[in-house]
Amino acid sequence: MAISINDLPKVQLHDHLDGGLRPSTIIELAMERGIELPSSDADQLGKWFFRGADQGSLPRYLEGFAVTTSVMQDQDALVRIAKEHVESLAADGVIYGEVRFAPVLHNEQGLDPEAVLEAVLEGITSGCADTGIDVRIIVCSLRHMDPDVSLRSAEAAVTFRDRGVVGFDLAGDESGHPPAHHNDAFQFLRRSNFNITIHAGEAFGLSSIWQAIQHCGAHRIGHATRLVEDDTVPGAHRGTLGEYILDHRIPLEMCLSSNLHTGAVSALEDHPFPRYLREGYRVGLNVDNMLMSATTLTREWQLAMDLFGLGLDDLERIAVNSMKGAFCEHSTSREVIQKQILPGFRTVRDLTS
Ligand SMILES: [Zn+2]
Repeated sequence: MAISINDLPKVQLHDHLDGGLRPSTIIELAMERGIELPSSDADQLGKWFFRGADQGSLPRYLEGFAVTTSVMQDQDALVRIAKEHVESLAADGVIYGEVRFAPVLHNEQGLDPEAVLEAVLEGITSGCADTGIDVRIIVCSLRHMDPDVSLRSAEAAVTFRDRGVVGFDLAGDESGHPPAHHNDAFQFLRRSNFNITIHAGEAFGLSSIWQAIQHCGAHRIGHATRLVEDDTVPGAHRGTLGEYILDHRIPLEMCLSSNLHTGAVSALEDHPFPRYLREGYRVGLNVDNMLMSATTLTREWQLAMDLFGLGLDDLERIAVNSMKGAFCEHSTSREVIQKQILPGFRTVRDLTS
């Protein structure tokens, strides 16, 4: 009996809300609000996003977000989009997810970060109640923005910590925008005992990953694709930064399709993911942006199986790795592993053996 990847219990930690809208929803929201789109046909619009993203460049990949965020400027739209996002995750077999977005990108009609968070939380809570899955929020800031904006976003994230906001992320174009510029925000987050993840090692090399961990206190790294360039310890096939990440069990949120589309790797066959997995890094798989990369977590897992010959044991390890790196409470993380992931894989093994 063939394995149904869709049915396997999955965990997703790197997933942008504004990169995961349904084309049909964008069209409906844009029509109601008098916003012009590149196409009013859902199929064509989906292809437009994918074509824009698949150009081998992170700045170009990011251009489509101007269109998605144009329909995410009022509370009704945000509630709907967040709810649908949870429904999409549940349909994909995700049992625990962390969804991220930058509140500051949704203020064109005067919403403050707290109002944006309220709306997204409402949608997520409603989606979770309907589907039974657990989804938390990560607040993003963007590298090119004023550091004060990051501090303000970090403060908003911490204010909502008891209502499902579990972490803070720095995203956006890496080159020329080092994370340490935003150290006031990171200092505040660390003083507040809050969780930090940072996009690093995607469009830029090792120094970006090193700075994220050692200057900014990142607990997880988004992508870290270019960590593979670290081979400064002779004979070990890795350098001191790689050793540090391995020894401290720093989770790496890896995204296969998105890395191909942004040019972080030139071919999926060359992706360092299987090497990291083999060497014992705490790596997981993620979609990054379902819409721009035209993908789902089921598809990313299938890709990893087809490209790298992964089996059920590997997929189970990926799910457990991700859950161990989740920013929710330790008790929840342990419970999801013991009561959902391990039994879920056991059932599939029994069915297929
Ligand atoms: Zn990302």
